[in-house]
Amino acid sequence: MFPVLHQEVHGKPLIYFDNAATTQKPIAVIESLKNYYETDNSNIHRGAHALADRATRYFEETRESVRDFLGARESAEVIFTKGTTEGINLVAKTFGRKFIQKGDEIIISTMEHHSNIVPWQMLCEENGANLKVIPITDSGELIWDEFEKLLSHKTKLVSIVHASNALGTINPVKKIIEASHRFGAKVLLDGAQSTSHLDIDVVDLDCDFLVCSAHKLYGPTGLGILYGKREILEEMPPFLGGGEMIKEVSFEKTTYNEIPFKFEAGTPNIGDVIAFNPALDFIKSLGKPAIRAHEDSLLNYANSLLEGVKGFIPVGTTKEKVSVLSFNIAQMHPFDVGQMLDARGIAVRTGHHCTQPLMKRFGLEGTVRASFAVYNTKSEIETFAEAVARIASFKNK
Ligand code: PMP
Repeated sequence: MFPVLHQEVHGKPLIYFDNAATTQKPIAVIESLKNYYETDNSNIHRGAHALADRATRYFEETRESVRDFLGARESAEVIFTKGTTEGINLVAKTFGRKFIQKGDEIIISTMEHHSNIVPWQMLCEENGANLKVIPITDSGELIWDEFEKLLSHKTKLVSIVHASNALGTINPVKKIIEASHRFGAKVLLDGAQSTSHLDIDVVDLDCDFLVCSAHKLYGPTGLGILYGKREILEEMPPFLGGGEMIKEVSFEKTTYNEIPFKFEAGTPNIGDVIAFNPALDFIKSLGKPAIRAHEDSLLNYANSLLEGVKGFIPVGTTKEKVSVLSFNIAQMHPFDVGQMLDARGIAVRTGHHCTQPLMKRFGLEGTVRASFAVYNTKSEIETFAEAVARIASFKNK
């Protein structure tokens, strides 16, 4: 079902444990992409011919599937972007520029990905707002009391990762949203890592924005989702200017299209949007509870095999986690560990995982990160744990 997984790397069967970076694609996604370019390729929303009609219909069907996937009220609240990064930048450059002013505050946390730090720093530099950071415990949890101390009527936005890519920590986002709303602050959830593992219902969560990336959801690269509440999206100015996002253009004045098109200037990533639909079908066919149960069992198994290994140092030990195992081996650089695992056909990520301030909090240069997905197996975990134990034994007698 996942063609890329059936290969050898350095003479060993590939074990792909870099799913937090990107997931592999089911055959249905690959075929959909091929089929689109073979039979339907056309520009959307404006053609007067059969191919354009078809492409438009398939494109909008994916939007409806995303609406269903996130539990949004209407598909107009689903905006296609290039990815999580672009979604956050879009909100910073539109909502941020209009509604956040000098002296206002934006709250993020120590465990944010760079893409949920830098856009806010850029905004603060531009408009004189201030960035506040929620500290975390040694086991990688937000310190709630500190968050409450940071919240005030100056807080205009809380932008927080739902599940950490570097530690796996699942943050108590519902509680965060309730507390933030009491101060009138809006909340953006970075769902890059949560949406593939956890049931998401944006209406129940009551988040104002949620962003994620299709490529971490068994879908194509170069595509992301920004969910926003209708009333907020309508108040926001457009992001990019150009075709598709306008109602009427004259040299004197331009009026803008309705949402979601107001935020989708230019020809979008049509083929990839269409090919994202079978990825969502794939997730739906398994069901998030079954996905989570499988991934949790892999994570628990890996932890149980590795906990007694001399020199094995887990990073981020909180219990509420998605299937991310971040660790170091005493006396070894994470990159060297990654290379040794690669030589055994095991693909992991090493380094700072685009979370340099988080690494600094732990006094680390980086970690080795193994992250599990639906297609991983217990026997792969055993091979991995044996390899880690062997590598650790070189320097930890
Ligand atoms: N936030 C988190 C938590 C992530 O894991 C990632 C991807 N590593 C991003 C944001 C950025 O996603 P993308 O590169 O797809 O825009």
